[in-house]
Amino acid sequence: MDRKIIVAIDGHASCGKSTLARQLANKLGYIYVDSGAMYRAVTLYFMENGIDYRNKGQMVSALKNISISFQYNNKTDMPETLLNGKVVEKEIRSMKISQEVSPVSAIKEVREFLVEQQQAMGRNKGLTMDGRDIGTVVFPEAELKIFLTSNEKIRAERRYVELQEKGIEVTMEDVILNLESRDYEDSHRVMSPLYKAGDAIELDNTYLSEEQQLEFALNLVREKISELHKSEFKEAELNKAGL
Ligand code: C5P
Repeated sequence: MDRKIIVAIDGHASCGKSTLARQLANKLGYIYVDSGAMYRAVTLYFMENGIDYRNKGQMVSALKNISISFQYNNKTDMPETLLNGKVVEKEIRSMKISQEVSPVSAIKEVREFLVEQQQAMGRNKGLTMDGRDIGTVVFPEAELKIFLTSNEKIRAERRYVELQEKGIEVTMEDVILNLESRDYEDSHRVMSPLYKAGDAIELDNTYLSEEQQLEFALNLVREKISELHKSEFKEAELNKAGL
């Protein structure tokens, strides 16, 4: 599969978007970007530095001091997020950040700041990115868009287990409340709300294992690439014939 594409994965909180995007990137040799981690890192910066994000002047000048990057951790075999050069993977997953991130990500200037960086990451294709507006705003021309869905109870259970594994103390009730409020805010905000792009393929993974979900998505990538090869071949033939 020499032709590289962009795979945009959107959906509600905790439905397995990051897992799918990461595993897909591993299989394809693509770059993987967790755009939610970027919104979380901005939120962490605001909280750690006492930035009142409702104060536009203060918030905009704070954005100039934020640099977000990713690196691969060979020990955990997972990517991790860096805020101004410091690994903040655990900090950005805390409940405190989960509770503040939706209002922060509804701010126009924050979105413009991050979307520009996300688009730059996709300049050379060969990228999987997950989030809320990837197929609608960041890469409306993405060759493949997947809209992931999953049963609410299962999503909350998965999230709870994930947080426990990371050593983050939470109750199941807090997890459920947080998922509900983020989903509501993310879907109802003015700027780049979460919705399924018209050309996105919906994938409900409630009853799928991670392996089945990955296989399904890999088949979509293979089909898309072969479609692209076919149409490019056809175009070249027409050009040759002077049509
Ligand atoms: O993906 P994750 O759940 O970690 O994202 C955290 C939050 O970041 C979301 O609830 C949403 O408010 C925001 N987000 C966003 N647009 C994206 C990715 C995440 O608004 N593309």
